[in-house]
Amino acid sequence: MAEKSREELLKEKLFIRRKNGYQRIDEETAEKAYSFCEEYKAFLDSGKTEREVVKFSVDLAKERGFVPYERGKKYSAGDKVYYVNRNKAVIFAVIGQEPVAKGIRISAAHIDSPRLDLKPNPLYEDAEQALFKTHYYGGIKKYQWTAIPLALHGVVVKKDGSVVEICVGEEPGEPQFCVTDLLLHLAADQMKKSMAEGIKGEALNILIGSRPLKADGGGELVKLNIMKILNEKYGILEEDFLSAELEVVPAFKASDIGFDRSMIGSYGQDDRVCAFAAFAATLEADRPKYTVVTVLADKEETGSDGNTGLASAYLMYFVEDLAAMQGTSAREVLSNSQCLSVDVNSAFDSNYPEVNEKLNAAYINYGVVVTKYTGSRGKAGTSDASAEFMGKIRDLLDRHGIVWQTGELGKVDQGGGGTVAKFIANMNVDVVDVGVPVLSMHSPFEVVAKLDVYMTYRALCAFFAE
Ligand code: MN
Ligand code: MN
Repeated sequence: MAEKSREELLKEKLFIRRKNGYQRIDEETAEKAYSFCEEYKAFLDSGKTEREVVKFSVDLAKERGFVPYERGKKYSAGDKVYYVNRNKAVIFAVIGQEPVAKGIRISAAHIDSPRLDLKPNPLYEDAEQALFKTHYYGGIKKYQWTAIPLALHGVVVKKDGSVVEICVGEEPGEPQFCVTDLLLHLAADQMKKSMAEGIKGEALNILIGSRPLKADGGGELVKLNIMKILNEKYGILEEDFLSAELEVVPAFKASDIGFDRSMIGSYGQDDRVCAFAAFAATLEADRPKYTVVTVLADKEETGSDGNTGLASAYLMYFVEDLAAMQGTSAREVLSNSQCLSVDVNSAFDSNYPEVNEKLNAAYINYGVVVTKYTGSRGKAGTSDASAEFMGKIRDLLDRHGIVWQTGELGKVDQGGGGTVAKFIANMNVDVVDVGVPVLSMHSPFEVVAKLDVYMTYRALCAFFAE
């Protein structure tokens, strides 16, 4: 090989280095990434709603020594606790060796994903077909939800307070559901509409039955038959839908993508990929220096409002309780704390290069993305991490040999988005967004790269370790 020129050596010294992660890790690390993602796929298939993720992660945490948090109880270094908020959000904490007054290490991810929610009065019959009315949740491209197999997950709460859990369409042999779409031959008018207009929100009705109850006359016999089946199976009446949270989600399972199996395709990876990475790192946190607090939040996709979203006070209350336990104040704890807001970023898509600015886009297989700011139209609605905190995180990731990159969500004025970062930053905590780059984000089948999933987990481990 020819000797490097002086200019080449100078470039190596002075220029930022960008390289595909696979050029930077050894075979053993690649294997670890692949095997880590086997657990991740199981997590995806076990938790397609925020309630299911809470249940699955709490069950796993219990096996790893976590116990329900009791307010007012004294905990000591190494103790592991969890706090469930209304079955839709959860906080896991591992008490650190340093007093909480010196600050804690918070990670926050969200476990809600875009989907179709049933309306309070969902069931109707039209043209002798039974359907459910829906109101979509979060940002979706409506046309992506037609003509794919769908499953129904959720709970129905009866007047006596008893809870009926429903999950149909996931196990082999179970029926599934769908939203129908118009065949091309009759779609001349529809095809002239914009993609935003082609499928209307009120057309996202779920096909759930077509067989009438056998009778000599009378209307709504298909609906009646469906209600009879639901009553026999779940003991519910039509009015019980009024107190239910039923979510329609894609029925497909997580699977490897590509001949090289380097990627994963699945519903709900925004943000369960980061939730899993943060949760797995929290399980590994053993007698950490600073107290580790991981919150898996609900309602991010609709703006984090509501009592299970991170704009709510439940995280603050939890920190207040931790502070009180050690005779200090939440103000003291939070002012000295650091947080990684773990959420996905958009990956550069070679089919749509025009939406990104290449220098600041995130790429799959380039590692965990550190996003200094989100927001839109001149950084509106972002907490924008400080240069000082970015400096600390850079140093941390490099010292731990983590493959990482930076990324912005699209080019300036192309659009934008937000995360839970600002809600925690608003509590006077140093926060930056880190996470996994995603292709087809918010679609029913999102794609991530295994290397990036693993590096996000490693980044969280490093963050909790110091
Ligand atoms: Mn997200
Ligand atoms: Mn999202």
